[in-house]
Amino acid sequence: MSGAGRRPEPWRDGDVLTVCATTLIGLAVIVAAWFGASGTVSAPRQAAWLNVGVAGFAVSAGGLCLWLLRLRRAVGERRVALISLAPQEDSEEASRTAASPRPARSADTTVPLPLVRAAGMARLHHPDCPLVAGKDVTPAGLDDGEPCGVCAA
Ligand SMILES: [Zn+2]
Repeated sequence: MSGAGRRPEPWRDGDVLTVCATTLIGLAVIVAAWFGASGTVSAPRQAAWLNVGVAGFAVSAGGLCLWLLRLRRAVGERRVALISLAPQEDSEEASRTAASPRPARSADTTVPLPLVRAAGMARLHHPDCPLVAGKDVTPAGLDDGEPCGVCAA
């Protein structure tokens, strides 16, 4: 997965239409119930209009809950994408390194990698960190900020 193929919004057009439609319908039903209840003096009829208003609230709240669930799902998908981008020891590499001696990896050496920082970011990152992918970065020193928790700069 590359940063260029990333969608700018985590929701689909249908999600926006659903939340707007349910909110507008719910508000319209609530306003209609308000006008209906204000036009009658009978308590049972006002109770009926109150039920209509509660139904309008339920429609609006249901649409907003669907919206929040969609955004929560998008956060989970983004988290999985970030975790899959993180460097990890795969079993093939582990078995190969166990069978034969290998030279030290660059992460095992004491030579520090150059660190970068993007504008507006407080933490320092490796240049290949997914949190700075696609951003304009400037070189930074070790004492310019706190290290990133994702790339462990
Ligand atoms: Zn980072």
